[in-house]
Amino acid sequence: MTATAPTHVRTLHHWAAGAPRPGGSARYGDVTDPATGAVTARVPFASADEVGDVVAAASAAFPGWRDTSLARRTQVLFRFRELLDARAPELAELITAEHGKVLGDAAGEVARGQEVVEFACGIPHLIKGSATENASTGVDVASIRQPLGVVGIVSPFNFPAMVPMWFFPIAIAAGNAVVLKPSEKVPSAALWMAELWREAGLPDGVFNVVHGDGEAVDAVLTHPDVKSVSFVGSTPIARHVYETGTAHGKRVQALGGAKNHMVVLPDADLDLAADQAVNAGFGSAGERCMAISAVVAVGAAGDTLVEKIAERARALRTGDGRRGCDMGPLVTAAARDRVSGYVDAGVDEGASLVVDGRTGVFDAEGEGFFVGPTLFDHVRTGMSVYTDEIFGPVLSVLRVDTYDEALDLVNANPYGNGTAIFTNDGGAARRFRNEVEVGMVGINVPVPVPMAYYSFGGWKSSLFGDTHAHGTEGVHFFTRGKVVTTRWLDPSHGGVDLGFPQNS
Ligand code: NAD
Repeated sequence: MTATAPTHVRTLHHWAAGAPRPGGSARYGDVTDPATGAVTARVPFASADEVGDVVAAASAAFPGWRDTSLARRTQVLFRFRELLDARAPELAELITAEHGKVLGDAAGEVARGQEVVEFACGIPHLIKGSATENASTGVDVASIRQPLGVVGIVSPFNFPAMVPMWFFPIAIAAGNAVVLKPSEKVPSAALWMAELWREAGLPDGVFNVVHGDGEAVDAVLTHPDVKSVSFVGSTPIARHVYETGTAHGKRVQALGGAKNHMVVLPDADLDLAADQAVNAGFGSAGERCMAISAVVAVGAAGDTLVEKIAERARALRTGDGRRGCDMGPLVTAAARDRVSGYVDAGVDEGASLVVDGRTGVFDAEGEGFFVGPTLFDHVRTGMSVYTDEIFGPVLSVLRVDTYDEALDLVNANPYGNGTAIFTNDGGAARRFRNEVEVGMVGINVPVPVPMAYYSFGGWKSSLFGDTHAHGTEGVHFFTRGKVVTTRWLDPSHGGVDLGFPQNS
């Protein structure tokens, strides 16, 4: 964080009531282009008062948007969807410029976010209640779902567009007003989407963006007018967000970190498994919560699998995401140093370093934050490369003798976001689906990210709260139930009777 402004970079702003709002506090952070290391923008860090102003803008917009008909709300959503579809490459470029992921990967992120917008376009059907006639004599009962009010979203650096889109299309479709606090490392995508909403005709104040760090998040978590918080980020912060938000009476879903395992049985197609381990381990430089981090090779699969993964990893081209490379840089210099430190530790702790990404030739200008694909073999569960979420392009292979040992290993891990099994044995795959303690499971699919109409979320330390993101769970999260009991036609109400009402 810097307190003084470099003169050669853009100064970003918050977004409230349908317009840019300059940062008012003295605190700013640097935004860098990870492929070159250059500082490209400074982002304001909001104080609690500034967060309060943005929440006030959302609160003012809420009643009008809540009372806007579903027909009109969906028209705005469809327009947002069309604009996003037409201008997706612009958003992908912004993501690559601040996150570093290669352009094709950034485009994929936008497409997956757009799927949630498309799901939310069906809100009239998704939000339907139910009704019962003659529940008692002449008495009808109906259940409806209503929006919460102002809802907070706090997102991580690794999906600047998709993760906010897991939440805000559904929140807005359901009639809420949104305050988004994006990651301070990748702030521009949120502002771009705010402008797109304005162009789509969303009333001012329904979608707002406030930038900042922990101070801004804590202000969201404790503000009495914020009714819910949807958080995605690392496990320690997710736990803090869940505990603080719920202690302040809010509905909270807090998705945390991950350590995802890919089990490879000896009967698997090892070329397929090696391709997918490389895609899932090194895609987005391993900065995905669904990245494969640990490959568990069962029995005879080990030697051949390691050979095949190494061959593919060595062939990858790492560099600037705008130059057609396979893999981009890490998001910051600190992230690069952290990942390299884990590789040093793995060597010190006795793992076999098969492919070393700490040095190499990277296709980029300047001082980008690069670590190439790295592969360890013979990793054991006590080593820090296994126990910690590295969040970088480091794949660890662990060797076990049996399926049961592999399952025990996955289930003993404190995280439970995603996992995959590679096998041609349907019985083993079915057992794994049933027995594994993880929220999202792939069978011969390495990154089993659910479609928008299913819900996304992990188990154990990968999620705090009981509601996953998007799908019908998302609709449920952003609405609350109300049951209405009605009598019109029967005048024989029985006169004064202080007994508890009984049905007849
Ligand atoms: P992070 O936890 O550092 O930051 C996430 C958000 O929390 C950011 O907006 C940040 O500004 C805010 N924050 C940071 N410090 C805070 C504090 N002390 N108090 C309150 N808020 C604070 O995470 P990150 O580095 O941006 O993202 C990577 C992490 O996110 C990884 O652990 C990854 O696994 C996880 N992630 C999880 C999922 C999932 O679906 N489970 C998806 C994407 C990323």
